[in-house]
Formats: sequence, C-alpha cells, structure tokens
Amino acid sequence: MLMTKNLSGKTNMPLVESILSELIKIQSVNPPGGETKVAKYLKKLFDRYQIHNEIIEPKPGRASFIADIGEGHKKLLYLSHTDVVPVTAGWDFPPFSGEIKDGFVHGRGAIDCKGLVAAEACAVIRLSQTTKLKGKLIFAATADEEIGGYAGAGVLSEEYPEKIRADFAVNEGAEVLTLGSTTYHSISVGEKGPAWMKLTSKGISSHGSVPMTENNAVVKMAEVVTNLAKYQPRVVLTPETRNLVQIFAHLDGLTDEVNENNVDAVLSKLSDKTPVSYLKALTRMTISPDVIRGGVKTNIVPDNCEAEIDVRILPGQNWQYIMHELKEILNGIGVETIQYNPSSLSSSDNDYYRLIESTLKEFVGDVPILPSICTGATDSRYMRDIGVPSYGIGVMTLNTDPVMSGSVHGKNEKIDIASLRLKTDFLVKLAQKYLSD
Ligand SMILES: [Zn+2]
Repeated sequence: MLMTKNLSGKTNMPLVESILSELIKIQSVNPPGGETKVAKYLKKLFDRYQIHNEIIEPKPGRASFIADIGEGHKKLLYLSHTDVVPVTAGWDFPPFSGEIKDGFVHGRGAIDCKGLVAAEACAVIRLSQTTKLKGKLIFAATADEEIGGYAGAGVLSEEYPEKIRADFAVNEGAEVLTLGSTTYHSISVGEKGPAWMKLTSKGISSHGSVPMTENNAVVKMAEVVTNLAKYQPRVVLTPETRNLVQIFAHLDGLTDEVNENNVDAVLSKLSDKTPVSYLKALTRMTISPDVIRGGVKTNIVPDNCEAEIDVRILPGQNWQYIMHELKEILNGIGVETIQYNPSSLSSSDNDYYRLIESTLKEFVGDVPILPSICTGATDSRYMRDIGVPSYGIGVMTLNTDPVMSGSVHGKNEKIDIASLRLKTDFLVKLAQKYLSD
C-alpha cells in the first residue's frame, strides 16, 4: 500500500514553499554571486527524482543549473535565476532565514527570483512523476542575472544555445498593474534596454576669486544635465504598448482611440495616477541624470566634472538613436558607455502568448490579462537573441499585501504561499497543455 502511494508520486512531492525556504538560506548575493551552492542544491533535489540534469560552471562559484524531462519535437523552457541583490540594513527579520510564517516565505530572493526557481523546480518534479510528456521541458536556473547575466544566461546563450533552445520560454518579469482598486495580471512580452553613460565636461582651473564661468566644468555639466532633464523624447507606440494604454483607458471608461499624438492627454485623464509614470516610460526613451561629481575646493574653478545618466530605450531604438537625439545637448561633452543592453520584444500575437494567457485564465478567472513591457532588464533578452520568444509571468494571487511586490530589491522581501502554489500549478498545466501532443 505504502509502495503504491509512493509510486503514484503523490506522497513524495516536495512542497514549493519548502524548496523556496531552503533556497533563501543558501546565500547567493551578487556580487560576488556564489550560485554554485544553489546549483548543487538543485542537483541533489533533481537527482532524487532521477531527472536528467547538469551544472555548467564557466567560472568558479558561478554555476548555472540545467535539467530536462520528456522527449519530442516540441520544446518549452522554464527560466529563472539563482542570484539575489544585496541586503541593506533595517529588515524586520533575518534576510536569509527563509522562515515560513503567517502564510508567507520570508527572505531575500523570495520574489526575485528564488520563488520562481522553486515553482519551476516543483513543477518539473511533479511532471516527472505524474505525466508522460510528448515534448521536452527544459529547466534553467541561471547565475548572474542581477548584474547583467553575462556569467549566466549570457554564457548559456553564447556557448550552449542548444541546451536551452526552445519554442518559447517562460521567465520572470511581469509587472503588477493596478488601476484604482483593481490589480491586473500581466504577461511581459518585452523590455527596455538600459544605456547607462558617463559624461565628462572639461574646463580650465583658476582661482575662484576671479571666476571665468566659460571655463567652469561644473557650470558646463549643470547646463547639460538641466537640458537632459528638460528634453522631451519622441513618443513611440509599439503595438503592445498602444494596446496596453488602450486597455487601461477603456477600463477607466475613456473612449479615446489612443495614438502617438494623444497618448499623454489620455494618460492625464486616467482617474488613478498610479500607472501613469510606468505607462509614460513605456512610450518613450527615458533619461534620468542620477550622479554628478565635480570640483575639488570652494575657491578653485573646477576643470573636470562627471555625470552618470540612466537612459532606457524602447524596442526598436539603439545607441545610434540616443546619440542622434541628444547630439545638440551633448555637444562638446565626453561620452562613455557604462552599460548597454539592447531592448527586446517577443510578439503577443502568436500561439505561445495565447496559450500562456488562456492557461493563466484557468487559474485567475476571466479577468483582463495585459501584455506588458518591463522597464527593467531580465535574462529574457538573451533568449530573444537566440530566437526564443520569451514571456515573463507573475502569477500572484491578487488579494495579497500590496507591500509585497514593492519588497523586490528592497527590505522585508516575502512571497505568499498561495501565490507560489498557484504559480506551480500554472506551470504544471502549461507544460501539460503545450507538450501533450
Ligand atoms: Zn530577477
């Protein structure tokens, strides 16, 4: 009797919250990373269920973990990352405790992104014990996402693309969108590209008692920074963004047909202003001058000033576009790249998107599900680079503490167990539906 129960796979299934709790306890703060410890934990877990798996460690300590189940011509990739951002002071609980309490799992990485690692791992294990898939489900938990993914998804996509290539991928990245008192599910279909630049202005130093303003590097940079802040980027509506703004407008009872000329006017009419800055950021390149350094002493005219600018570009825009648009403002100023990742986009008009959407509806009910674009960056761009359409999911229960999603990269990160289980069930169902024939 006991054997039958075990063979049915039911009694031996690990709980998603237990996996997450264990993952949080394994510290993998990036920098420096240390994701190999997480990969080894996953290996042990998957070995227990005899799931084919592999650790890929391009540099000591920086391993990614890959596993797969099933055989067939169809392929689906479940992607996640195992590194987390550092913690600052002021948490109400130890950030690496992984404590399970009051319906939540507490700790750094609970949402970003070990919750997804746990849900995807749990889904793969459950499928391996219960379902004969007619296609291949690939699991990849990568290193280094938090500082660019070069040692993780970057290495996998460049050196081992065949190990992760799939018809489409599911990853993190969906935004929680709210309008008024209603929260909406979204599926992330693209992301903006960060183009961080360092600007340098030069001057001639002299005595501050006889100032020569035209030689003052700080004054020059102040003017550049002010002009960058005032600059009005051109509005560009991708079909996805237009659709998103249109849905928001309709949900708010507005009848306007959204276009590039009226999008700001429509946004200003939304009764709830919460989503406006996010939606605005999706309709144009954004520029945020965030650091400035110049001068050495009160009475010396500065000969050098530096500023760091966070520019984010839309799908379809690139570095050349930025330089063309800002040519006049940056005239006579030194420009260096700190970091540049192209923007990326997957279609929301295909069977993969529709399958994710319809499966999601089975779990969350017939509520609007919006295709969203991430203002930040994830590993999905590496998948899109090798031709794998990638979609970010959130799949949270919508009645939880609104502080929860704000805890990503912040203090007191936690996730509710109901969301974790919902996400796991969704991932099981999605793989069963896609890989069943
Ligand atoms: Zn993340």
